[in-house]
Amino acid sequence: MRISRTVSLREVGKDECIFKRSGYTGHHVLRCSRPECKKELNGSLVVFTSHPFRNELALSHFSSEGHDIESEADIFHKFAVRGKLPSRTPSNDLERDDY
Ligand SMILES: [Zn+2]
Repeated sequence: MRISRTVSLREVGKDECIFKRSGYTGHHVLRCSRPECKKELNGSLVVFTSHPFRNELALSHFSSEGHDIESEADIFHKFAVRGKLPSRTPSNDLERDDY
């Protein structure tokens, strides 16, 4: 299987954990972009600096109200983003958003 949301690996923060999940192609980051969660972080995305599926890190965030998830598989399916290697880089891809 394959996650269709992608992000250039150039845009992945230095501290963000990039991980693989068995059964899926590629490398991923897990991010929560729920508006309510971003608001709590003053507009930043919720990211994970160590493996989100170890020590129930992801569960502890995504089991809070409003995420509507049932399991880690569900979290991955709904919120993981596949990292794309920038083999061909359009110029606007180089601009880094200040997350
Ligand atoms: Zn969230």
